[in-house]
Amino acid sequence: MFFENVDFSTLELPPAALRLREEVRAFLKAEIAAGAFTPHLGHTEFNAEFTRKLGERGWIGMTWPKRYGGQERSYLERFVMTEEMLAAAAPCAAHWFGDRQTGPSLLKYGSEAQKLRFLPAIARGECYFALGMSEPGAGSDLASVRTRAERAPGGWRVTGQKVWTSWAHKASAFFVLCRTSPDAGNRHDGLSQLIVELDAPGVTVRPIRFMNGHHHFNEVFLDSVFVPDEMLVGEIGQGWKQVTSELALERSGPERYMTTFPLFVELIRALGPAPDARAQEMVGRLAARFWTLRRMSLAIALALEPGADAGHSPDLGTEAALVKDMGTFYEREIIDAARLLAAVEPTPDATNTFERYLAETIVCTPVATIRGGTTEVLRTLIARRLLGPLK
Ligand SMILES: Cc1cc2nc3c(=O)[nH]c(=O)nc-3n(C[C@H](O)[C@H](O)[C@H](O)COP(=O)(O)OP(=O)(O)OC[C@H]3O[C@@H](n4cnc5c(N)ncnc54)[C@H](O)[C@@H]3O)c2cc1C
Repeated sequence: MFFENVDFSTLELPPAALRLREEVRAFLKAEIAAGAFTPHLGHTEFNAEFTRKLGERGWIGMTWPKRYGGQERSYLERFVMTEEMLAAAAPCAAHWFGDRQTGPSLLKYGSEAQKLRFLPAIARGECYFALGMSEPGAGSDLASVRTRAERAPGGWRVTGQKVWTSWAHKASAFFVLCRTSPDAGNRHDGLSQLIVELDAPGVTVRPIRFMNGHHHFNEVFLDSVFVPDEMLVGEIGQGWKQVTSELALERSGPERYMTTFPLFVELIRALGPAPDARAQEMVGRLAARFWTLRRMSLAIALALEPGADAGHSPDLGTEAALVKDMGTFYEREIIDAARLLAAVEPTPDATNTFERYLAETIVCTPVATIRGGTTEVLRTLIARRLLGPLK
């Protein structure tokens, strides 16, 4: 029923991906040694300088065509890159949305002018995108979006409110899902995507702080913001189709099961060379689960290779939902195992990495089962595939 056409025995990484892994590992080790960043768990941090360095190496938008600043490398190489960034808890917030979602969306739906303007800048690590989908009252039920765009000479006037907009206070622009035809009969019709620059007149960004005080996401108010015609992405009224194809990309990668991986490594280190039988069993189970999730995620990355349109097919969307649902619960189980097996106090400012990681993950991991689609919504998608549409 799921992963029907995947031959899991063929999921071997090619030599180019293995070479890249060594290169990325050496780079990250040198960056940490030089104090360029301190690994933190919870939410990946926004570090424009780090992102620029990745851009210089051709490590952002690496699968994109060269004419748009990409490297035309394989999705498996991108997969390896993502794994290494997560394993080192590197600060990737500045480029992750652009690299994973808005870049591929622009490639698929954007105009030539948009591609030439934004993609090379994202790939250089100099242009940062945020995602303006959720609104108060329109999260899981995204089709309830009320932000509206009204026709104005040469473009649109956009009015409304977005919420939970990660890194809107640092990003250059965001994709705004809005209603361009208020009278469309079906709620999924009449929605469009516009690129709105975050320093445009009429845009106000206000922080929403996490319980640990960190500023990661925001509410964004749009008050009759002028958006020129050339910032419409794709076709008017096709916003729903476009935005849901982005979600499949958001749900399937290692970001959905590896955000607590460095804690797992610290746990194994803390258990030492001779863990007791209970610890061996728990670590063994978690390692096996990790391997299974990784194969599932890798199978999706393989299906994304040029020639396969799977990233945007509804079928792969369900597989992606499966990876995210299983992956985010797996991440929590690593925290539970750390608390059960090691006598360690979670302390946010500890010099001991294990204690600090534990504190950082306990505070932040609950968000994993909400962002990018809640557990209940993902399971509904999966159930519908198994049982067929509701009568
Ligand atoms: C860390 C983080 C970062 C985020 N970043 C962004 C961002 O950059 N851009 C952006 O646009 N959004 C972002 N979001 C928002 C995120 O996409 C929404 O929070 C999510 O879609 C859930 O919507 P909601 O918060 O409105 O909750 P609701 O949709 O109100 O859900 C509340 C509860 O009701 C349940 N529920 C809702 N509908 C159903 C149903 N039909 N059947 C069963 N149960 C249901 C949900 O599962 C959940 O438990 C972010 C969220 C988090 C936590």
